[in-house]
Amino acid sequence: MRFGAIEAGGTKIVCGIGNAEGKIEERISIATEEPRQTIQKVAEFFNNKNVEAIGVGSFGPINLDRGSPAYGSITTTPKPGWSNYPILAVLKQEFNVPFGWDTDVNAAAYGESMWGAAKGLDSCIYITIGTGIGMGIYMEGKSVHGLVHPEGGHILIRRHSEDEFAGACPYHQDCLEGLASGPAIEKRWGLKGIELPNSHPAWEMEAYYIGQAVANAVLMLSPKKVILGGGVMQQKHLFPMIQREVQSNLKGYVHSEHLLEKIDQYIVKPGLGDNAGLCGALALGIQAYESRQDQ
Ligand code: ADP
Ligand code: ZN
Repeated sequence: MRFGAIEAGGTKIVCGIGNAEGKIEERISIATEEPRQTIQKVAEFFNNKNVEAIGVGSFGPINLDRGSPAYGSITTTPKPGWSNYPILAVLKQEFNVPFGWDTDVNAAAYGESMWGAAKGLDSCIYITIGTGIGMGIYMEGKSVHGLVHPEGGHILIRRHSEDEFAGACPYHQDCLEGLASGPAIEKRWGLKGIELPNSHPAWEMEAYYIGQAVANAVLMLSPKKVILGGGVMQQKHLFPMIQREVQSNLKGYVHSEHLLEKIDQYIVKPGLGDNAGLCGALALGIQAYESRQDQ
């Protein structure tokens, strides 16, 4: 059986076909331009592919409230044409199959729980640190939606004493995304993350911020695995720095060997690598097929 997967991002939309074991057999990347034209290309890719269901993990904020007429739309985005765009309804007009629908980061957390670093666990969080910061939450075997959906990229953060950067989030002065996203690093230091040497003070500050966010997530949610992905986390030397920051924030208060002795296996890179989002969308498609709900 074959399933469709759509990872809808602000710069590109990745479409894939995969099987029930999480293997992606075919994929294509489409630039996110004006919605009608972009979705047309997505539809062309899936045409005649005979998928049983399609899962969509989308950039947001999105509407996940099944009772709302706006269910399945992207709500507020500065991306031209995409604000209030009913992406799911448009796709459903093209393909009469069950659809799964969630945020890109919830999808990634779910995919990691199915086939990746959190395989076999009933909880994990997935934080992507890239152009933006997003936090997907998978708890007790389910993706967390709540009132709207979690927005862990915008949690308020205590500033580093040496940080004079104004912040890169247009909404909040001192939020995680505003202080620690890829663009925040670039604006603060005048160089892209990839251009900064490992010894640069940027990384100590970055670990300070991500370590705070992870410690807070551990205290609030108690996830069984913390997965850090996105472009900035290509800097592998950040992992031990973040692990140390988390321990220094928690000060041994949370009694678990995973935080005390085995933190290098607790805060980890995605097991699915760059495929976490797409595999997550695939997992949503399989879930939709299994529950056969017209979502
Ligand atoms: P997006 O978030 O747009 O889907 P990425 O996760 O690749 O894409 O994030 C892009 C951001 O990550 C940019 O701000 C870029 O500077 C930064 N980035 C990408 N690769 C690296 C790297 N190897 N080291 C540090 N920063 C990186
Ligand atoms: Zn913010």
